[in-house]
Amino acid sequence: MTFSILDITCNEINLKLTMREFKVTQHLLDLAREKANSKQIVRVNVLIGPFSEEREQSIEFYWKDLAKDSPGEGAKLHFEHVPVAIKCLNCTGIFYLDEETAMCKFCDSERLQLLSGEDVRLESIVVE
Ligand SMILES: [Zn+2]
Repeated sequence: MTFSILDITCNEINLKLTMREFKVTQHLLDLAREKANSKQIVRVNVLIGPFSEEREQSIEFYWKDLAKDSPGEGAKLHFEHVPVAIKCLNCTGIFYLDEETAMCKFCDSERLQLLSGEDVRLESIVVE
C-alpha cells in the first residue's frame, strides 16, 4: 500500500547548510507514522535538495534513533534529489542549485533566497 503525501517539512533553509536534520527527521517520522496508522512502515520516499550526502546520512542516523520501537523502525529511506531554485538578492539572478554551494553563480554573492520553498519533503510511504 502506498500513500501519496506531499508535505512541506521546512519553510526555511539555511544556505550555509546547517539544517537541523534532527528536527527534519522528527517531522518526517511524525508524518509517516500518522499516515501509516500503526502499520509497519517498510519504505519512506523523501524528496531532498541536491546537497551533500552527509545530510542524508544524518537523516538516516536520526531516523534509526527516533524510530526505535515504533512502526518506523527498520524502514528503508529512499532519497530522490530535486533541484532547488535560488534567487540572488544582489544581482537578482535565478539559478538551480545543483551542488553544495552558498554563493551566486553569477556574482558570488552570499545573499541568496530559496524560491522552491523547501528542500526536504516526504513524498510517500509504503506500509505492510
Ligand atoms: Zn548574484
